[in-house]
Amino acid sequence: MMMDIENAKLLYSRTGDFLIPSERVAHVQVGNNLEHALLVLTKSGYTAIPVLDIKFKLHGLISSPLILDSILGIERIEFEKLDTLKVEDVMKKDIPTLHFNDPIIHSLKLLINHPFVCCVHDDGSFAGILTRRVILKQLNAFLQPLYHNEMNNQSSQ
Ligand code: AMP
Repeated sequence: MMMDIENAKLLYSRTGDFLIPSERVAHVQVGNNLEHALLVLTKSGYTAIPVLDIKFKLHGLISSPLILDSILGIERIEFEKLDTLKVEDVMKKDIPTLHFNDPIIHSLKLLINHPFVCCVHDDGSFAGILTRRVILKQLNAFLQPLYHNEMNNQSSQ
């Protein structure tokens, strides 16, 4: 099967080519309280967002389920804790990251289990996120012509 040269470029792309850049990513800071984080999460409509420090270094991810779990008491939801608990006390720290120059094929494996993966520059500063949606869109554009070519070839034989 012949591969379209233009489309094959996807295989040689880098993570940085398909990022949602940091300035367009909703995020919170390590020292923010959970009330602020819940506000940003709810207003943005996302269930998980990155946690950064003032130097834009990536520290983890915060999500609404993690926040709710952290204020869950034995008999009631302890909403008053939203004010005192900090994002850094509750965030998920053990997260996969990609580097700006990583081949796109590295990202595919991570995106099986994560709807998005954070990408960092070599100095550890946050570059943006790579989402499953963006990669699926690229894969779709790559595979559709191959599929239709194949179908056309089969029907003309
Ligand atoms: P999507 O591919 O747009 O469905 O996004 C998948 C996930 O990536 C969302 O649920 C968010 O957790 C995260 N995400 C996508 N876009 C943004 C953004 N601009 N800011 C923060 N998080 C985002």
